[in-house]
Amino acid sequence: MEDNKGEVIAVSGPSGAGKSTIVKIILKLYPEIVFSVSATTRPKRENESDGVEYFFISEDKFKNKIDKGEFVEWQKFYDYYYGTVNSFINENINLGNPVLLEIDVKGALSIKRIYPESHLIYIMPPSYEVLVSRLRNRQTETEEDFQKRIERAKMELSHKDQFDYIVINENIEKAVEETSVLIKKIINKEK
Ligand code: 5GP
Repeated sequence: MEDNKGEVIAVSGPSGAGKSTIVKIILKLYPEIVFSVSATTRPKRENESDGVEYFFISEDKFKNKIDKGEFVEWQKFYDYYYGTVNSFINENINLGNPVLLEIDVKGALSIKRIYPESHLIYIMPPSYEVLVSRLRNRQTETEEDFQKRIERAKMELSHKDQFDYIVINENIEKAVEETSVLIKKIINKEK
């Protein structure tokens, strides 16, 4: 990125790889990083607030925003839409703020096409078996959701080589440390 522009960092990887946990810790460690709040049509979970994790909006409103070109990229997963908000990300880049996105693999690859100097970090589970067992242990999901997530994880794993950095999450402390070293270099614009 140009010297006065904020860096764009996308953290991605299959569901169950631990990316949300890592992102939450990174945001605490680097308060200067702005989290890109996406819009979604999925219902708000108990511990979430509008405008913090997501902007929770209706499907009609989401589709209207697609038509108006208000998303940098958007995806539909299962029954819900998710989109990166154009104005949110561009305003922060122009203010010189580093922006971090937690986004699915296809979304991250779109971000790279739109912002060629962005940095894509892929959080990998240590093995396919571990990923399956982590997905299995999520109490919130039905068997059908579980099968869909496995299929999706296989697709997401197949794109890992298109990322700039891969962090293997075998142990959360080590994975956070590795991600933190990368992030520090990126936001300090070290080559
Ligand atoms: P969840 O519903 O668990 O919060 O998120 C489901 C998936 O949507 C995760 O893989 C998350 O990273 C991804 N996601 C969240 N926001 C966006 C977005 O704006 N664009 C895309 N492409 N994916 C997103």
